[in-house]
Parts: sequence; structure tokens; C-alpha cells
Amino acid sequence: MASIQETRRVVVAIDGPGGAGKSTVAKRLADRLGFLYIDTGAMYRAVALWARRQGISWDNVQALEEMAKAAAIGLESNPLKVTLNGEDVTLAIREPEISQGASKVSAIGGVRRALVDKQRELARQASVVMEGRDIGTVVFPDADVKIFLDAAPEVRATRRVKELEQKTPPAPPKERVLAELEERDQRDRGRAESPLVQAPDAVLLDSSGLTIEEVEEAILKLVRERTTNGREHQRG
Ligand code: C5P
Repeated sequence: MASIQETRRVVVAIDGPGGAGKSTVAKRLADRLGFLYIDTGAMYRAVALWARRQGISWDNVQALEEMAKAAAIGLESNPLKVTLNGEDVTLAIREPEISQGASKVSAIGGVRRALVDKQRELARQASVVMEGRDIGTVVFPDADVKIFLDAAPEVRATRRVKELEQKTPPAPPKERVLAELEERDQRDRGRAESPLVQAPDAVLLDSSGLTIEEVEEAILKLVRERTTNGREHQRG
């Protein structure tokens, strides 16, 4: 395999609200391209979980900033695994309560700066598919490919219920999931620090009526057009 250092590293940035399909598609693309998959939401979730376990309030700005700096967050792709200070927290960070906590701690400027530093560091070592809320606007404004992936709220809630049913059953009722997603979106879009917004040069994809395969192909086409080393790996 050609070493990554031999070619220019590539950043594929995928932003958008919860339930739009970012994680599924980003993971598949990374596997196909042989890039690292980086789920930045998992990092905000890990900080929220750590605070909760330490009895630290999600609006304690100073303590959370320190925790975000000190947290050793590991992201593994195959299989997907998230570690916090060496402990496997893959499932614990998906609890609905932690989703809300992540959205609260992510509004704190100091937390964002600490995690953005870690995200940039990860991408120094390899080409990446990175997903989140501010990747194309703040973390990598010069990303090679920027996607803003959206979907209708109803569709996003249905997908999230399915995902919770698989990961941490039983899933809450769809109405509750929808209300929580919308609450989180509003907070993410309305905050002063790095709000969720489509970068002017991002390509908008609405995944409401599309299959995962169709979204994947559309993004892959853009990667191929815009990079020279968007070389595809055969899927097993
Ligand atoms: O993507 P996910 O739903 O796991 O993200 C959890 C929360 O983390 C989001 O609601 C958002 O508040 C925050 N987040 C963020 N910036 C990112 C990724 C996630 O603010 N780049």
C-alpha cells in the first residue's frame, strides 16, 4: 500500500444535523477510500459523559474546559470503538441523556478549542473523512470536499429510533426522539461558538429520499473529481 506521506493528505468534511446519516455514510466512505473515519460528535459526547460521572454540571465552563483538554479520547474504526481514558465508552456515550449533554458542553468555547486541536492533530497523520457540525466551517475551512448532509426532521427521527433500537434498546418513542433532536438542532444552530451552518462552499445533499448507497456514491463522485488520491479500496 502506498504510504499516506507519499501523497497529499485529503480531508472530506461532512456536517449536518443529527440523524441525517452522517455517521453511516462517513464510515462507509472512509472504509472505501482507505481514509481514517473521525466522528467528532463522539468526542463531545465523551466529555459530557466524563463530566456526568464526576458529578460536574454541563454548564461548569472552567471545569469542562479542563476536562476537554485532559480527556484521552480514542476513536477506532474496525470495529467502531470509542475510548475515554482507556475505558470503552462506545455504548455509554449513545444514551439520549448524553446526547443532550454533548450539545450543552459543545456550546462552551474552551471545550471546542480543546477538541478542535485534537481533531486537527488526528488529520495531520492521515487522510480523513471527518463528520460533525463545524468541520467545513471551522476545523478545516480548506477541506478538499465539503458536504452539508440534511434530511427532513421526521426522517431523521425515524433513523435515530432505529439506531437506538440496535445500539441501546429499548428505543424511546419516536415523538420524544424527534423533540429531542429538534431541541439539540436549535441549540447547535443558535449558539455563538461555531454554530451548525452550511459552509458557503459546501455541497448540500438532502438524504430524505435517498438510500445510503446513493448518498455514498454522490459524495464519492465529488471526492474523485476534487482529489487525485481518492483511490478506492475494494469492499470485502
Ligand atoms: O454527531 P452527534 O449527534 O454525535 O453529536 C453530539 C453533539 O455534539 C451535537 O448535538 C453537537 O452539539 C455536538 N457537536 C458539535 N460539533 C461537532 C460535533 C458534534 O458541536 N463537530
